Amino acid sequence: MSERRVRVRFAPSPTGPLHMGGVRTALFNYLFAKKHGGDFLLRIEDTDQTRFVPGAEEYIMESLEWCGIKVDEGIREGGNYGPYRQSERREIYKKYADQLIASGNAYYAFDSPKELDVLRKEAEEIKETFTYNAATRGQLKNSLTLSSTEVEKHLLSGNAYVIRFKMPINHEVVMQDIIRGEVRVNTDTLDDKVLFKSDGLPTYHLANIVDDHLMEITHVIRGEEWLPSLPLHVLLYQSFGWETTMPKFSHLPLLLKPTGNGKLSKRDGDKMGFPVFPLFWKSEEGETAMGYREEGYFPDAFVNLLALLGWNPGTEQEIFTMDELIQLFSLERVTKSGSKFDPKKAEWFNHQYMLMKSNAELVQLYLPILKQKGIETSPAKVERIVGLIKDRTRFVKEFWEQSSFFFEAPTSYDPEIIKKRWKEGIPGQLTSVKDVMAHVTDFNGINAKAAVSACIEGNGWNFGSIINTLRLCLVGASKGPDLFEIMEIIGKEETIQRIDTAVRTIK
Ligand code: GLU
Repeated sequence: MSERRVRVRFAPSPTGPLHMGGVRTALFNYLFAKKHGGDFLLRIEDTDQTRFVPGAEEYIMESLEWCGIKVDEGIREGGNYGPYRQSERREIYKKYADQLIASGNAYYAFDSPKELDVLRKEAEEIKETFTYNAATRGQLKNSLTLSSTEVEKHLLSGNAYVIRFKMPINHEVVMQDIIRGEVRVNTDTLDDKVLFKSDGLPTYHLANIVDDHLMEITHVIRGEEWLPSLPLHVLLYQSFGWETTMPKFSHLPLLLKPTGNGKLSKRDGDKMGFPVFPLFWKSEEGETAMGYREEGYFPDAFVNLLALLGWNPGTEQEIFTMDELIQLFSLERVTKSGSKFDPKKAEWFNHQYMLMKSNAELVQLYLPILKQKGIETSPAKVERIVGLIKDRTRFVKEFWEQSSFFFEAPTSYDPEIIKKRWKEGIPGQLTSVKDVMAHVTDFNGINAKAAVSACIEGNGWNFGSIINTLRLCLVGASKGPDLFEIMEIIGKEETIQRIDTAVRTIK
């Protein structure tokens, strides 16, 4: 077993957009595969045709691509173990269901949905729940109770039937989970799950086990919600005689709401104003959900924050590249308990990545926004500006708010600042400062500052109140980077003109 090449799969059902918890599952699979020099497969589990959502498959692939999670084998990539879409593998499964019937591990059940409904209602009336299991199957209409001729008749009649797993009686299933250790369940608590439906398609359980076996999957890494299915899966491996190559299992902890109360759900994001999905999603019915990409997250920041939801490096380090994650990742360091999602921390991650991005890279992201605003400018100028403002932002979409004054003169002035700072002598003092600046020959931040300072000191004026009102003239508010850097970038003419305009208009 230990010599087998590591092969893992991410096996989503295309029932809608991929939740960030799903992306984390994909990421942990990917990190594990790459750490061990193995393969990462994307298998689409679409046997439940009633839940198929158009566009979901593309959404899943685009999400992984955006995150930099590279698929080695999948519906688009191909591979030696295909097809990778279960609906294209339908011919494969019947034989395995038949094999279980032949070995006595499964049986045909002919009870119609109507008949089962009646039983459910009857049970409800006496405050019980009907379960198709070892206790009830002996009184129901199936190949365990009917004669072989009757079974033949049913099968030939064309009436709907299903194939169910014959759960052993009072048997202790002992399972190993890399994250949770040993898990034990008595089969008397389990029902006889449907494995195969008369529409010719297997259910999730059968298809999943058969495919993991045929695709030579060595490790199954999936969400905690699948832990209750594990006993059945282990029993299926045993029934097929595949124990020696059975994958090792890891069930990842849930992602919890920011309050810590309950699972992070699809609706939480829109309710609380943060994304829960990697990409923007619009359903056929027109329902939309925001995405990390569209909200302005950098994909590497998103991957970084996801990695720390449930995995702990064992050090104080919080910022990791994908390569570092691959090197450091281990399933043993995945926590058992759920991890609370903190949207503020998510923004913090994006800010950290903002600081690490080169200015040149950020220019490429900012230029289209400027273009949209009709601003023609040089990339070199934008590069300087971005360098000055990026430490005040979390997202590129905040750049304009922090830098519009580099491109456009203010059209209004913050009334609060006017009230507080625009004292009687100010217009005169600013005019003097402006005149001094007009005589600076080699105009740049340093020279402008020297000239302004000399003027203020020479006249014995208050440095703070002049600098603050100068900022009001140039920016329109009390925000922005170093004032003299602003002057240098907008240039002498523009600086003088803005002071003029402000002195003329502010009352
Ligand atoms: N199709 C299942 C899902 O949607 C896969 C579970 C598993 O990984 O076994 O999550």
